[in-house]
Amino acid sequence: MTIVLVVNSGSSSLKYQLLDMATETTLAAGLIERIGEPSGSVRHTNADGKREREAPIASHDDAFEAMLANFAELGPTLESAPPAAVGHRVVQGARRFFGPTIIDDDVERNIDELSPLAPLHNPANLAGIRGARRVFPNIPHVAVFDTAFHTTMSDAASTYALNREVAEANRVRKYGAHGTSHKYVSEAAAEFLDRPLESLRTAVLHIGNGASACAVDGGKSVDTSMGMTPLEGLVMGTRTGDIDPAVLFHLHRKAGYTVDELDDLLNRRSGLLGLTGTNDVRDVTRRAAAGDVVAQLGLDVYVHRLRHYLGSYLVTLGGGDAIVFTAGVGENSAEVRRRTLEGLEWLGVELDLERNQLPNDGIRVISTDASRVIVLVVPTNEEVEIARQTLAQTGL
Ligand code: AMP
Repeated sequence: MTIVLVVNSGSSSLKYQLLDMATETTLAAGLIERIGEPSGSVRHTNADGKREREAPIASHDDAFEAMLANFAELGPTLESAPPAAVGHRVVQGARRFFGPTIIDDDVERNIDELSPLAPLHNPANLAGIRGARRVFPNIPHVAVFDTAFHTTMSDAASTYALNREVAEANRVRKYGAHGTSHKYVSEAAAEFLDRPLESLRTAVLHIGNGASACAVDGGKSVDTSMGMTPLEGLVMGTRTGDIDPAVLFHLHRKAGYTVDELDDLLNRRSGLLGLTGTNDVRDVTRRAAAGDVVAQLGLDVYVHRLRHYLGSYLVTLGGGDAIVFTAGVGENSAEVRRRTLEGLEWLGVELDLERNQLPNDGIRVISTDASRVIVLVVPTNEEVEIARQTLAQTGL
C-alpha cells in the first residue's frame, strides 16, 4: 500500500486528502476553513463518517496541527497509514516549473519569488508546504502546479498584445490555471472512450465556483481562458471573467475606486454573485425558471460566455472530437449544459436530453449515439491527479 497525502493550502483554508494509491481510494479527507478569522470550521471524513466542529484557527501552522489532531483522534492514524510522500497544490509556476517538482529550499524560494503573479495563492501554498515539511521532514514533498499543464500553449496563445518591453519586464502573459483538472479529465475522457489521447481534440469546460475552458489537442493544452491570473475568461461565481480593461480606468476616474477596491470588486463581488445576488447556480436556475428576470439575465450572460469560448476552442482545435463538462456546475447542472450546447447540431454536437438529465454518477456520455462530437460529463478529481504526479515524480 503506497499512501500519499495531498495538501491544498489556500489563503484561508486547508484541504487535505490521504489516498491509498494502489486503488486510488480516499482513506480520509478534511477541510479547515476560515483560517485567521474569529471562528473557524474543521471537517474530517473517513470510513466511519464525517465529523465537523467549530474552532478558531489562527494560522496555517494551527491548521496543520488541527489536521494532525484529526488523524490522531478520528483516524486513520498516520502510524497505521503512513504517507510515503506529500503532494502540494501550487497555483503559479509561471515559466519556471513545467511539471511536478520535488520541493527543496530552492524550489520554495522560487515559489515565493512568483508570489507577485499570484498574491492570493502562492504565499498560502507556501505556508502549507513549510508546515508540511516541518511535520514530515523525512519524506519527499512534491509541488504540482496549476499552470504546468498550460506551458504547452504557443506564444501566440499566451502573449497579450501589450507593449512587449512592459510585458517582459513584469512577466505579463497568459499562464492559465485549473491545469491539474484539465489534464485529469481530458485523459480520463480518452481512456473512457478507448481512444488514443494523442489523436483526441477535446474542449474542456471546468465550471465550478472558479471556471475555465481549455482546448486540449492530443493531451496538450493549446489554449485556456484564464489568463495571467484566474480572473480572465468565463463568468464565475464571484469573478467577472473577461471585461474591457477600460472599465477599470472609468471606475477609477469617475467613481474614485482604488486599485484594491477594483481588485475586490472584480474578484469577489462580481460574476454570478454580482449579477444576481448569489453565486450558486442552483439558486440562479431555480429563480430564473420561476420568472425572476435578474436571475434570467445572469444565466444568459453566464451561458453566452461559455458558448463564446466553446466556439473559439473548436476553431482552435480544427474541430472537436469531444466536449467535456466538469466541476460543480459542469457535473451537476443539466440546464447549463443544455443551454451551452443548444442549436449546435450544425457543428456535429447533438445532446441527448434524457442522458443529460441523469444524476451525476461518474463519467458518462450525454450526447446521442449519432453525435459526431461526443459530449461527456467527467467528474474531476484534482487530488488523485496531484497524488499520481507526486508518485510519478518520487518514483515510489
Ligand atoms: P466547485 O467549485 O467545483 O466545487 O463548484 C461549486 C459550484 O457548483 C457551486 O457554487 C454551485 O453553483 C454548483 N453546483 C453544485 N451542485 C449543483 C447542482 N446540483 N446544480 C447546479 N449547480 C451546482
